[in-house]
Amino acid sequence: MMGQDPGAPNARHDCLFCEIISGSVESAQVYSDDHVVAIRDISPQAPVHILILPKKHFPTVDVLRENPSTAGRLIAAATVVAHAEGLHETGYRIVVNHGKHGAQSVGHVHFHLLGGRQLSGTLG
Ligand code: AMP
Repeated sequence: MMGQDPGAPNARHDCLFCEIISGSVESAQVYSDDHVVAIRDISPQAPVHILILPKKHFPTVDVLRENPSTAGRLIAAATVVAHAEGLHETGYRIVVNHGKHGAQSVGHVHFHLLGGRQLSGTLG
């Protein structure tokens, strides 16, 4: 379809992150490759808080069991961004929320990359 990112053949106009990936909604992009985009979280919970998104729309991490190559690309991109942000020596956290109990609020799978200070030892 005209105007769509070629890496996002199934982009959805009702999806905030698809709209960010297509450029229809502004974001602070820090990384992009053929399959993945990384943007700064609009409401950061640490000095560095970056979202790693597949360009292709997947609603949740739960479907990545059938798309392990996407899961691998997201992790690899997160580590590339962690290095670019200088987090690899001090440390960082990668978090993925799924569904209601996981407190997922945007229905396009994304990995949170958090760092830049000592993070809490609790996750739940
Ligand atoms: P989750 O709760 O795991 O679904 O995470 C969604 C994340 O998206 C939250 O950390 C939000 O702060 C972030 N977010 C929401 N809208 C935007 C936006 N327009 N640009 C960047 N990050 C956003």
